[in-house]
Amino acid sequence: MSRPLRVAIGGVHIESSTFSPHLSTAADFEVTRGDALLARYDWLAPARPWAADVEWIPLVHARALPGGAVEPAAYEAWAAELTARLAAAGPVDGMLLDCHGAMSVVGRDDAEGDLVTAVRSVLGPQPYVSAAMDLHGNVSRVLFDACDLLTCYRTAPHVDVWETRERAARNLVEALRRGRRPRKALVHVPILLPGEMTSTRQEPARSLYAGIPAVEARDGVIDAAIWIGYAWADQARCQGAVVVTGTDAAAAADAARELGERFWAARDEFAFVAPTGSMDECLDAALAAVADPARRPFFISDSGDNPGAGGADDVTFALDRLLARPEIRDGSRRAVFASLVDPQAVAQVADQAPGSPVRVTVGGRIDGRDPGPLLLDGVLESAADDPDGGRCVSVRVGGLSVFVTSRRMQYRLLESYTRLGVAVEAVDVVVVKIGYLEPELFDAAGDWLLALTPGGVDQDLPRLPYRKVTRPMFPLDRGFTAELAVVTG
Ligand SMILES: [Zn+2]
Repeated sequence: MSRPLRVAIGGVHIESSTFSPHLSTAADFEVTRGDALLARYDWLAPARPWAADVEWIPLVHARALPGGAVEPAAYEAWAAELTARLAAAGPVDGMLLDCHGAMSVVGRDDAEGDLVTAVRSVLGPQPYVSAAMDLHGNVSRVLFDACDLLTCYRTAPHVDVWETRERAARNLVEALRRGRRPRKALVHVPILLPGEMTSTRQEPARSLYAGIPAVEARDGVIDAAIWIGYAWADQARCQGAVVVTGTDAAAAADAARELGERFWAARDEFAFVAPTGSMDECLDAALAAVADPARRPFFISDSGDNPGAGGADDVTFALDRLLARPEIRDGSRRAVFASLVDPQAVAQVADQAPGSPVRVTVGGRIDGRDPGPLLLDGVLESAADDPDGGRCVSVRVGGLSVFVTSRRMQYRLLESYTRLGVAVEAVDVVVVKIGYLEPELFDAAGDWLLALTPGGVDQDLPRLPYRKVTRPMFPLDRGFTAELAVVTG
């Protein structure tokens, strides 16, 4: 090759619910450009052999915690900057689109499709585009048609995020070096399930995803990927998908059909990652169980308002049920509620001395569903700065520590608890706004239940007011036969 390949990198990464009243704004995004953008990718410094002799061109990358739909002005600004920088970069051979795939933008039903269309309007048809996505993203026909390579994570919880992005970049570079545009095949699978029923820690997702490497190893196949899709957006694109790319069109199509059929055949086996119940049922079980030290700390996922999936992070339903328990109020049981976002409440109490009595109203300002803002009458237990949550406090009411943050965050790391002075192993019950437990919590838990609480990411999908999702769709509809069509390109 007479000159190095030129590959642009950029994208917008957010998972956002159309059922959450939270609005994601520009302030929610961490934006990287230039060297800071390239520093995200550890295959570049030092460059792996496959990445050497490539000129990597950073455009702009915007990333936010999952939330409600993105305000149009924020999305449009990222899209305009991305395309302007791409145009300014001059001719490129390819582009790595680093995105989630489940971005909802107010007024748009296929934001990634719109973004890649804008990218193509600058790039033209010749350069190759490779998309690196979350398996909870969606693959619309527009996105599929505009990309040459598409792949996604193979684990949930996601422990292969960076190897996925590297695979997407490496496959792009290798395809450019071969000089032949990859062939691709897409199969949509009419299944829409929450991540909490499709963790690769358990069957049937474990075997479904474990089958990918053998498919990918076949002659003529470059990459195979399975998307679970995103259940908390009311959009026609939200459903399961399989994409196989290859050097051989028939091999890609056969593999995509086969993986799609395996996914569809497994539909009745998907079940929640933990036993489920109402919040009160989960508390009854937890308070009975913690008499056995081996079952402490007992975790309960307040799953309907999980900020890690797009919940507002301030629904007070689960907190209200905790406060109703006499053994927690009188301190005979020790519990933690993690957490609520409420910068006003934090500002009101954070500067007081630890141990000071406080009366402060918390939560329910973004998602005000019942019971709305709650009054905490207790003492300030601690205050700390958290890299995710900003200024945070713990307000102690009887045996309960209530964590309140200045920014939306998820208590998925143990160090976030200890920062506020709480060691989870010393607690009976931990109620956390999360779905499936992230690895550190999973390892720390003596036991665990998933509470089907109300919120913007309600796990009980039939309760959600879908209007635009393609029907029939399992499990909203049952007893139908799926026609698994293979789209090729
Ligand atoms: Zn995900």
